[in-house]
Amino acid sequence: MPRCRSWRPTRVGLQTPQSSAPGTDRRQWRRCRAKVEPGQVRCAECARALVEHPDVEVRRMVAMEVDVSRQALEVLLCDPDALVAACAAQTAGARDAEGGARVGQD
Ligand SMILES: [Zn+2]
Repeated sequence: MPRCRSWRPTRVGLQTPQSSAPGTDRRQWRRCRAKVEPGQVRCAECARALVEHPDVEVRRMVAMEVDVSRQALEVLLCDPDALVAACAAQTAGARDAEGGARVGQD
């Protein structure tokens, strides 16, 4: 069974509006090692914690990930921060274009 490779914000991290980048501060981030389904790199709890993170930069980072889950992306598309929502829309658009190209190649 593969394990989640995501960083998860700690309680302190979730109360820090301007948090450090994932993995740089042990008080704000810890590594998650939860079991995930094959093919997944992030568990549902980490995904939820990241898309609801108070720091806009963290949400924007998730919105730009190429392998962000569809579920997380849908939450970020409705993000109150316009920039986060725009990044999510861009990622969703790129993914749709890629999917279309793959269908064309088959
Ligand atoms: Zn996790």
